[in-house]
Amino acid sequence: MSWFHETLHPEIRESIRIDQPIYQGKTAFQSVEVFVNETLGRVLILDGVVQTTEADEFFYHEMLAHVPILAHGDARQVLIIGGGDGGCLEEVLKHPVDGATMVDLDGEVVELCKQHLPEICRGAFEDPRTDLVIGDGAKYVAETDKRFDVIIIDSTDPIGPGTVLYEQAFYANCKRCLTERGVMITQNGVPIFQREEYLNSLERFRALFRHGSFYYAAVPTYIGGDLAFGWASDGLNLSDVDSAAIAKRYDAVGLETQYYNPEIHRAAFAQPNYLKALGA
Ligand code: SAM
Repeated sequence: MSWFHETLHPEIRESIRIDQPIYQGKTAFQSVEVFVNETLGRVLILDGVVQTTEADEFFYHEMLAHVPILAHGDARQVLIIGGGDGGCLEEVLKHPVDGATMVDLDGEVVELCKQHLPEICRGAFEDPRTDLVIGDGAKYVAETDKRFDVIIIDSTDPIGPGTVLYEQAFYANCKRCLTERGVMITQNGVPIFQREEYLNSLERFRALFRHGSFYYAAVPTYIGGDLAFGWASDGLNLSDVDSAAIAKRYDAVGLETQYYNPEIHRAAFAQPNYLKALGA
């Protein structure tokens, strides 16, 4: 019997039994592994770190996409940075957006996910509203003249090619690409184990934007309890949740979700005391 051991936290380990190996290889940017686990279904690993699994992808992708889009209320153009598996893209496209641009560094990862994880992207790459750009997300936001109502940074952790997606210059360029009420969302790690990442982002959001903080959801395979989703905006205060408006928009879109609903949306903005103490 063989096991995958995650290497994200040197002092704590998550192990997943490999019941059926599907793919193992290296792209120009990172190592990639896909295997089946009896409970989790297909699992995607990049550079030794769990990215997503068929069983729990919905917790993460629904919270990344629906919270900012329903809070905004009229998102026409959405930008996803990273997100190679297409799970976030699929959730974004459940909304009546005009366009969803996805910029991932690694075209090979996107192709491998289409081939081996079709249950996660569910045809999202074939949607006519999708514009897939293969390239560095940091370079894209530095150069594009397009503007977006929602920017979602669905990145790997700040190691390897994802490191640039946590830097101040990158966030400043994202701000430049936002419309007046536009909002940026980040995958910000599990704060109990990745406190530095949390504090760095908080400091950067506060330096660059009028509003910025975090909301939370526990994603089973991102061990350590709640995952922090960062958010920052000049024109929209996401933590000021208008529950009636969110519920109305949720019903109007007829969203089919497995985790997200308007009550979860409100609850996700409650700040635990140990994070309030850090300034959240
Ligand atoms: N949900 C995942 C997590 O938290 O572990 C992240 C999922 S997604 C597969 C991460 C994607 O970010 C990968 O496809 C990777 O190629 C992409 N990525 C890493 N660095 C990038 C960069 N600088 N620009 C654009 N995409 C990048």
